[in-house]
Amino acid sequence: MTRSKEVTIERHELTIVRSGQFRALPVSPQRGGCSVCEQEALWLAAEAAAIYSGLSRREIYRRIENGTLHFQEMTDGIVQVCLTSLAGTDP
Ligand SMILES: [Zn+2]
Repeated sequence: MTRSKEVTIERHELTIVRSGQFRALPVSPQRGGCSVCEQEALWLAAEAAAIYSGLSRREIYRRIENGTLHFQEMTDGIVQVCLTSLAGTDP
């Protein structure tokens, strides 16, 4: 039982790294240019990014504040996180 759970977690992490696959995402990411990556990136609301990455929302915002995660604030106040930066961070 424990073993199969580990495999699931590994697959989940793999999904983050292999940015071509987003089936595990709670919501569909939006495409858009990231000024930090200087290329097109996929964006997820911070809350969804937390679920996706397994990090707490607090940790997501901490990483936004220290510059680890690229972010953009939408006109409706929703903060979106660049998935490229999310995949590139250490767990
Ligand atoms: Zn980026």
